[in-house]
Amino acid sequence: MAELMPIIQLGNPILRQKAAWVDNIQDAHIQNLIDDLTATVAKANGVGIAAPQVAASYRLFIVASRPNLRYPHAPVMEPTAMINPRIVAHATEIVKGWEGCLSVPGIRGLVPRYQAVEVAYTDRNGKLQKQELTDFVARIFQHEHDHLDGIVFVDRLENSLDMITEDEYQKRIANNT
Ligand code: ZN
Repeated sequence: MAELMPIIQLGNPILRQKAAWVDNIQDAHIQNLIDDLTATVAKANGVGIAAPQVAASYRLFIVASRPNLRYPHAPVMEPTAMINPRIVAHATEIVKGWEGCLSVPGIRGLVPRYQAVEVAYTDRNGKLQKQELTDFVARIFQHEHDHLDGIVFVDRLENSLDMITEDEYQKRIANNT
């Protein structure tokens, strides 16, 4: 049975560490961690979660885009565990879009990201996967990938004026601006 895990918050030094490579994907500890992360991100209305956010400093995250209270316009996809992920290539175009983070509650920021990325990762069955991701899903990947290197989205803001509260963000969504 998957367990809900407590999510650590900005200020916890684990969020600033470089996470460790996963050597043995079939290890029960890693497989259970994938199940627990998947349950935890769903419960928290997230669209992605990285292992360091539950104090497990491994190069592993879940991308689980779906429309929810925090991201009403997110595309739907099966929750996918991406292990030892990397960005192989990226578009030159950079787009700014709103992000939040389960480890930075109450804050949203307009973050510049590559519009498209070509990525490689190992799936939970140990198979190497290569994918091209665009737009919102590319944004999730880049956000989660940053967590593995100790980077949080607020580090990438161009200007503190690009930061607003969750309440303000929700008002803007309601007004569709
Ligand atoms: Zn995050």
